[in-house]
Amino acid sequence: MQGWETTTSASLEHRERMEGLLTFLGTGTSMGVPTLGCRCAVCTSVDPHDRRLRPSVLLRWQAAGRERVVVIDTGPDFREQALRAGLTRVDAVFYTHAHADHILGLDDLRPLSFTVFREGGPIRLFATPETRATLEHIYDYTFSPQATYPNRARVQLEPLAERTPVHGVEFVRVPVMHGEMEICGFRFGRAAYLTDVSGIPEESFALLEGLDHLVLSALRHKPHPSHCTVEQAVGWAERIGAKHTWLTHIAHELGHEAANRALPPGVRLAYDGQTLPVSL
Ligand SMILES: [Zn+2]
Ligand SMILES: [Zn+2]
Repeated sequence: MQGWETTTSASLEHRERMEGLLTFLGTGTSMGVPTLGCRCAVCTSVDPHDRRLRPSVLLRWQAAGRERVVVIDTGPDFREQALRAGLTRVDAVFYTHAHADHILGLDDLRPLSFTVFREGGPIRLFATPETRATLEHIYDYTFSPQATYPNRARVQLEPLAERTPVHGVEFVRVPVMHGEMEICGFRFGRAAYLTDVSGIPEESFALLEGLDHLVLSALRHKPHPSHCTVEQAVGWAERIGAKHTWLTHIAHELGHEAANRALPPGVRLAYDGQTLPVSL
């Protein structure tokens, strides 16, 4: 098609590293912060760092003379997040899993997909078979072969490989546990994004060596059946040993300032709109 699908892992490992920008589109838990109906100190805080949309990140880099754009998860706040980030196009979306807070913004890819379609191809959506089945069920009017809705998103579901190259950047699938479910984290260059984590399989640690930036979910201090606590996240952060660990998928129990003061050096709460340069 456009040449980039033939890029091999070997050639990626031997080229010079590119620089990209990783932006937190949202750092909140499934209900967002403020949480509707809640009047707690964090939900009524005037600190903008305490306003957290649903979890998602955006990765941008330059390849073949233009900006390339990958989003991880399109949650219910995707439209607002895309407006804030000034997104005018998306090349691909990687899905971690099919919970509502990670997928319910897929329909808002429509206008962006029309732009891409005019350039010669649909937006590529990478998902496991389980996630794909849920997306095909919810968005039947988009994915069904019988779909006739003329303004449906121009998107294409593709199988998620262990390593998926997109315009010269390799996205490595990093399995993590989310309660009983195995879901996907992703590594790209010297950064990794692991959300909704309650456990990290032993094999996945090997995929996380030599990181500059690790993004790791940490809901709150109180245990939860399908999310780790701040304390567990800090323990994994120490073992993985990234230069910087950024916590995300944060509930309203954690205020930005106070929680950050209690964290060890190198581990901090991320916030919506935060952008990090990453080596890809
Ligand atoms: Zn979630
Ligand atoms: Zn989830």
